[in-house]
Amino acid sequence: MPRPLLATIHTAALANNLAVARRYAPKSKIWAVVKANAYGHGLARVFPGLRATDGFGLLDLEEAVKLRELGWAGPILLLEGFFRPTDIDVIDRYSLTTAVHSDEQMRMLEMARLSKPVNIQLKMNSGMNRLGYTPERFRSAWERARACQGIGQITLMTHFSDADAERGIAHQMAAFERGAEGIAGARSLANSAATLWHPEAHFDWVRPGIILYGGSPTGLHSDIADTGLQPAMTLASELIAVQSIAAGQTVGYGSRFAAQGPMRIGVIACGYADGYPRLAPEGTPVIVDGVRTQVVGRVSMDMITVDLTPCPNAGVGSRVELWGTALSVDDVAQACGTIGYELTCAVAQRVPVRAE
Ligand SMILES: *Cc1c(COP(=O)(O)O)cnc(C)c1O
Repeated sequence: MPRPLLATIHTAALANNLAVARRYAPKSKIWAVVKANAYGHGLARVFPGLRATDGFGLLDLEEAVKLRELGWAGPILLLEGFFRPTDIDVIDRYSLTTAVHSDEQMRMLEMARLSKPVNIQLKMNSGMNRLGYTPERFRSAWERARACQGIGQITLMTHFSDADAERGIAHQMAAFERGAEGIAGARSLANSAATLWHPEAHFDWVRPGIILYGGSPTGLHSDIADTGLQPAMTLASELIAVQSIAAGQTVGYGSRFAAQGPMRIGVIACGYADGYPRLAPEGTPVIVDGVRTQVVGRVSMDMITVDLTPCPNAGVGSRVELWGTALSVDDVAQACGTIGYELTCAVAQRVPVRAE
C-alpha cells in the first residue's frame, strides 16, 4: 500500500474554468497558461480539460514538445521566449510562437536558419520592469522584427504588475498605448486578474493561468467566490495516528505547540517533502472527517499534526483534505502568508496524482 496521500485533478473543473474565462473575455482568444507543469497539476493531466483553448502558454521547450506529443496541433506560446540559438531549431521544428523581449533574442532570430517564419509576441515593458522593450524603444524593435526574414506574424504583448491590486492597470495601459501607437497587429495583455476585472485590456488574446486551476489572482478566495471558478486540484490524505495528550504536553519539533488541556492530536501523512509549506503556522486550516480544524505544531518532512477537538469521531483512517473542493487552496495559502499559486506549484514529485 502506498502512503495515503493523493492529488486528484478535476478535469471537469478545468473545462468549467476555461469556459468561465471565455465568458469573461468573450471576444478574445485564450492562451491557457500551463507553465510550471500546469501550476503543479501536470501538463498531461490538465490537457484533456483545457483542450478547448485556442493556444497554450508555457516556458520550457520540453513542455512545448510534450504538448505536441499529446496531440496538440494549435498555437503554443513560449512566454519568456528562448535562451540559446539551438532553442530556435526546436521552435522551428515544433512550430512554436515565441515571445521576443530583447535585442539578444532578436539577433538570434536574425541569424537563425528556419524552415518557415516564426510567429512572435513582441514584448513591451510597460512598467513591470522585468522583460521587454520600453515604450520608447518599442517601435524600433517592431520595425526590426518586421524587417527580419525569419519572423512571421507579430503580436504585441505586455504583462501587468497590479491587475489584481489597488494600483490597477491604467498606468501600464497608457504606457502600452503610447509605445504601440500606430502599430498594427494583434494585442495580448491580460493575465487572470485582467481577464476577470479589466475588460478594457482583453483585446485579441488573454493569458489566464491561475483561474484555470480555480485559484484566486489576489490570493483571496472571497475575490473569486462569485465567478463560478472551481478548484482543479484536491490534495487528500488520511490520519495515520492519533495521540491523546494532557495539558502542558507539546507537539512536534521545537515544541511549538503546547496543549492547554487534554486533547487529541491527529497525524496526517503529508509533510513539507510533499510540498505542504513548512511555514504553516498554528491555525492553518485542514479538513478532517469533513470538519474544518487546524494545524498545531510544526510541519515536519513527512507529517502534519492537527487538533482533533472539533472532530471527536475522527480516528486512524479518517479522510483529510489539505486543500481542494472543501477547503480553498487560497485559504491555506493565506494562513501561510503566500498565494495558492505557490502551493500547487510546490506539490512534490513523490505525491501520486490522479486525474478524474
Ligand atoms: C504566468 C503568466 C501569465 C498567467 O498569470 P496568472 O496570474 O496565473 O493568470 C500570463 N502571462 C505571462 C507572461 C505569464 O508569465
